[in-house]
Amino acid sequence: MAKEFPFLHQPFPWYSFISLLGFMCCWRRVRHVYLQCNHAINLPDDEIRCDSRNCKFSPNHPLDCVPPQCIKTCWQYHQYPQQYSPNIDGKCPNCIAAGR
Ligand SMILES: [Zn+2]
Ligand SMILES: [Zn+2]
Ligand SMILES: [Zn+2]
Repeated sequence: MAKEFPFLHQPFPWYSFISLLGFMCCWRRVRHVYLQCNHAINLPDDEIRCDSRNCKFSPNHPLDCVPPQCIKTCWQYHQYPQQYSPNIDGKCPNCIAAGR
């Protein structure tokens, strides 16, 4: 490994503290890794919604909670994105289409 990122070795990275407060909306980065051809395909980001009233993106967020009050009481940002990279035992769609 050429470069080390010290914060990755801490038991609780900074974004874990946010998760301790409750699950909030975040993006999920989906990347399928195809083992038989070693290709990876990025899929469109998934938006994962929470059910908190204190999150601007939540379906339970009150409709009458609007700025400037909302900015003080509610999450205005998505949480740290999750990475989701399932390994698929097969070939990617491009290789299948190309008959490789
Ligand atoms: Zn949310
Ligand atoms: Zn709000
Ligand atoms: Zn492939």
